[in-house]
Amino acid sequence: MPRPRLLTREETLERRRQYYQAHKEEIISKNTLRNQLRVDARRELLSEFPCKACGNNDSTVIQWHHLDPTEKEFELFRTAWPDEQFWNEVLKCVPLCANCHVKIHKDMLCLLPMNL
Ligand SMILES: [Zn+2]
Repeated sequence: MPRPRLLTREETLERRRQYYQAHKEEIISKNTLRNQLRVDARRELLSEFPCKACGNNDSTVIQWHHLDPTEKEFELFRTAWPDEQFWNEVLKCVPLCANCHVKIHKDMLCLLPMNL
Protein backbone atom coordinates (compact mmCIF):
# COMPACT_ATOMS: atom_id res chain seq x y z
CA MET A 1 0.00 0.00 0.00
CA PRO A 2 1.56 3.33 -1.02
CA ARG A 3 2.30 5.77 1.72
CA PRO A 4 0.20 8.98 1.53
CA ARG A 5 2.07 12.02 0.30
CA LEU A 6 2.69 14.84 2.75
CA LEU A 7 1.01 18.11 1.85
CA THR A 8 3.08 21.16 1.07
CA ARG A 9 2.64 24.24 3.24
CA GLU A 10 0.58 25.90 0.51
CA GLU A 11 -1.67 22.85 0.17
CA THR A 12 -2.19 22.77 3.93
CA LEU A 13 -3.09 26.46 4.02
CA GLU A 14 -5.46 26.01 1.08
CA ARG A 15 -7.23 23.12 2.80
CA ARG A 16 -7.57 25.21 5.95
CA ARG A 17 -9.04 28.07 3.92
CA GLN A 18 -11.49 25.70 2.28
CA TYR A 19 -12.46 24.18 5.63
CA TYR A 20 -12.96 27.63 7.12
CA GLN A 21 -15.11 28.76 4.19
CA ALA A 22 -17.22 25.59 4.40
CA HIS A 23 -17.68 25.91 8.20
CA LYS A 24 -17.40 29.66 8.67
CA GLU A 25 -20.68 30.21 10.52
CA GLU A 26 -20.11 27.28 12.87
CA ILE A 27 -16.54 28.41 13.66
CA ILE A 28 -17.60 32.00 14.32
CA SER A 29 -20.49 30.83 16.47
CA LYS A 30 -18.26 28.58 18.59
CA ASN A 31 -15.61 31.30 18.97
CA THR A 32 -18.24 33.83 19.99
CA LEU A 33 -19.67 31.46 22.58
CA ARG A 34 -16.20 30.59 23.95
CA ASN A 35 -15.29 34.27 24.21
CA GLN A 36 -18.56 35.12 25.95
CA LEU A 37 -18.04 32.31 28.47
CA ARG A 38 -14.54 33.64 29.17
CA VAL A 39 -15.86 37.18 29.69
CA ASP A 40 -18.69 35.91 31.93
CA ALA A 41 -16.30 33.83 34.05
CA ARG A 42 -13.97 36.80 34.53
CA ARG A 43 -16.86 39.10 35.35
CA GLU A 44 -18.15 36.65 37.94
CA LEU A 45 -14.71 36.17 39.49
CA LEU A 46 -14.12 39.92 39.79
CA SER A 47 -17.61 40.58 41.13
CA GLU A 48 -16.51 38.98 44.40
CA PHE A 49 -14.56 42.11 45.35
CA PRO A 50 -16.33 44.77 47.43
CA CYS A 51 -16.31 48.47 46.63
CA LYS A 52 -13.01 50.02 47.75
CA ALA A 53 -14.73 53.25 48.71
CA CYS A 54 -17.80 52.17 50.69
CA GLY A 55 -17.49 48.40 51.11
CA ASN A 56 -20.67 47.60 49.16
CA ASN A 57 -20.42 43.93 48.23
CA ASP A 58 -23.46 43.68 45.98
CA SER A 59 -21.81 41.95 43.04
CA THR A 60 -24.41 43.26 40.60
CA VAL A 61 -23.14 46.84 40.99
CA ILE A 62 -19.36 46.32 41.14
CA GLN A 63 -17.41 48.03 38.36
CA TRP A 64 -13.69 48.34 37.77
CA HIS A 65 -12.25 51.83 37.82
CA HIS A 66 -8.90 52.71 36.26
CA LEU A 67 -6.91 54.62 38.88
CA ASP A 68 -4.91 56.43 36.19
CA PRO A 69 -7.02 57.01 33.06
CA THR A 70 -3.87 57.66 31.01
CA GLU A 71 -2.85 54.03 31.61
CA LYS A 72 -6.17 52.61 30.45
CA GLU A 73 -5.72 50.45 27.39
CA PHE A 74 -9.18 48.90 27.16
CA GLU A 75 -12.49 48.14 28.87
CA LEU A 76 -12.08 44.91 30.87
CA PHE A 77 -15.23 43.15 29.75
CA ARG A 78 -15.68 44.46 26.21
CA THR A 79 -14.23 41.30 24.70
CA ALA A 80 -12.24 38.21 25.67
CA TRP A 81 -8.80 39.75 25.87
CA PRO A 82 -5.87 37.34 26.14
CA ASP A 83 -5.20 36.39 29.78
CA GLU A 84 -1.96 38.31 30.26
CA GLN A 85 -3.37 41.53 28.79
CA PHE A 86 -6.57 41.18 30.78
CA TRP A 87 -4.89 40.62 34.17
CA ASN A 88 -2.38 43.40 33.56
CA GLU A 89 -5.31 45.72 32.94
CA VAL A 90 -7.07 44.55 36.13
CA LEU A 91 -3.97 45.52 38.12
CA LYS A 92 -4.54 49.14 37.03
CA CYS A 93 -8.04 49.16 38.50
CA VAL A 94 -9.94 49.10 41.77
CA PRO A 95 -13.43 47.72 42.34
CA LEU A 96 -16.09 50.33 42.99
CA CYS A 97 -19.85 50.14 43.28
CA ALA A 98 -21.68 52.00 40.52
CA ASN A 99 -22.64 54.77 42.94
CA CYS A 100 -19.08 55.47 44.10
CA HIS A 101 -17.78 55.09 40.53
CA VAL A 102 -20.05 57.88 39.31
CA LYS A 103 -19.11 60.07 42.28
CA ILE A 104 -15.40 59.64 41.58
CA HIS A 105 -15.86 60.62 37.94
CA LYS A 106 -17.85 63.68 39.05
CA ASP A 107 -15.14 64.63 41.60
CA MET A 108 -17.61 64.15 44.44
CA LEU A 109 -15.47 61.40 45.99
CA CYS A 110 -11.74 60.83 46.15
CA LEU A 111 -9.81 57.64 46.81
CA LEU A 112 -6.91 58.43 49.10
CA PRO A 113 -3.85 56.17 49.01
CA MET A 114 -4.76 54.72 52.44
CA ASN A 115 -8.03 53.49 50.92
CA LEU A 116 -6.28 51.60 48.14
ZN1 LIG B 1 -19.19 52.18 46.80
